[in-house]
Amino acid sequence: MKLLAVVFTLLSAVTGLAGSTADSQVSRTWITDVTIISPENLSHIEVGNVLIEGGRIARVERRKRSKTPAGARVVSGKGQFLIPGLIDSHVHLAAVPGVPYEVSLGPDAAKPVMIQEYLKQLPRSYLYFGYTTLVDLAVVDHRVLEEFRKAPLHPDLYDCGESLPIANGYPMSFAPPATRFQLFPNFIYDPKQASSIPAEYKPQDHTPAVAVARVKNSGGICVKTYFEHGFGRDRNLPVISSGTVAEIRKAATQTGLTLMMHANSFEAQKFAVDAGVDVIAHGMWNWGSFEGQSELPAEIKSLLDRIVDKKTGYQATIQVMGGLRAYFDPQYLTMPAIPQVIPARMLEWFNSPEGKWFKKEISEGDAPDAAMLEGFDRGPLRRVRQVAGYLASKDANFLFGTDTPSAPIYGNLPGLNGYLEMQQLKSAGLSLEQIFRAATINNAREFKIDSLVGTIEPGKAANLVLLKKSPLENVDAYDSIVTIWVHGKQISRDGLAANADK
Ligand SMILES: [Zn+2]
Repeated sequence: MKLLAVVFTLLSAVTGLAGSTADSQVSRTWITDVTIISPENLSHIEVGNVLIEGGRIARVERRKRSKTPAGARVVSGKGQFLIPGLIDSHVHLAAVPGVPYEVSLGPDAAKPVMIQEYLKQLPRSYLYFGYTTLVDLAVVDHRVLEEFRKAPLHPDLYDCGESLPIANGYPMSFAPPATRFQLFPNFIYDPKQASSIPAEYKPQDHTPAVAVARVKNSGGICVKTYFEHGFGRDRNLPVISSGTVAEIRKAATQTGLTLMMHANSFEAQKFAVDAGVDVIAHGMWNWGSFEGQSELPAEIKSLLDRIVDKKTGYQATIQVMGGLRAYFDPQYLTMPAIPQVIPARMLEWFNSPEGKWFKKEISEGDAPDAAMLEGFDRGPLRRVRQVAGYLASKDANFLFGTDTPSAPIYGNLPGLNGYLEMQQLKSAGLSLEQIFRAATINNAREFKIDSLVGTIEPGKAANLVLLKKSPLENVDAYDSIVTIWVHGKQISRDGLAANADK
């Protein structure tokens, strides 16, 4: 479930004030006496030293006591834990959580300031929770990504370019007919939709091969397509055919791009596995005709077994449902982490009646909040957790991806949503080691960036996170961050908070 906000303007005022320059840049940093937790080496976790030199990891020593390298700034990691920077491989940076599209788009006099402040904080909120690499799955506004990359402190950002919906299918169906082709110009031509495709779009410019080439030429590292019949007001949408997806598969293989498919139902994930996609970009909360069953049906288990056998990348995205559930949970907006990831003006607006507009979209009649919470817990949340738990028991190839935000909802806030997703994964049955691998090496390998990131090894980017607690002992460790390094630049966590004194 996902809808993309498009922030067209508003960015010119977001300038270079975002970074704290208090941390002096030194060319060498020597992190000492730290427990090094790196996914390639989990069976021999040791205390050691790590040398950062010019933005890269230059040396990793375990059980050795070398002299401080000349000119190095020493950071004691005594009693602490060093992990590779975390990777979230499913984000939508141009979508503003909790804000209706027409507001983030429109000329409303008050809101642009709120949105500018949000976008300025955005890269810092991801860093605040240790995310040093992101993958944006569907670019709808290049300017938001460009500004993000220009911010003085920001995670590394990769993208899948403009996504490949089938003409008039999900998610372009959510935009009005007059603008949807402009918003999703890399759509796949469908002769059956010809009468409603504007004449300026020619079939030969919208074949799978041309669309994939467009992603490659834009610098994308992945291709995103969809299998979704729709929900809410938009049902019975056209979906991609097996012949078309086979052509996309072929073109993605030839160009070396990772093929991802939006699929959250039993039917859609079966289609995705048959199509040989690399990554299923959602958990399975929609069981179709098995919806009423309390245990995982044999038919779903056998599909999940195929996902395990083929090592298909799997993003459980449990917080898609958790983020909707948040609208009925009176505790959610009182979480102490929220003022740390979004500006005060935005939180104030979320707490106003107007700011809760999305609740009406998902309420069922006048059902009380408690009944809605129970509905989520017994329905889609239970189902998506059961599927993730089964895949965990077979050690599937989990990829950590949050789908932040999955809709214009305040239940999916940058950085914090990753931490909440980790807690969801833990309660669904993933081990702490599975979560750690999913957010580091598994993501790095699947997106072919493992020569740069994903482990603590010499030669890789010095994207590192220092924690007070071990993430292999408790999932809360991911909220015990002390220091973050991005390409060797040292940042203290406190200074990244939205409510920090600047
Ligand atoms: Zn998404």
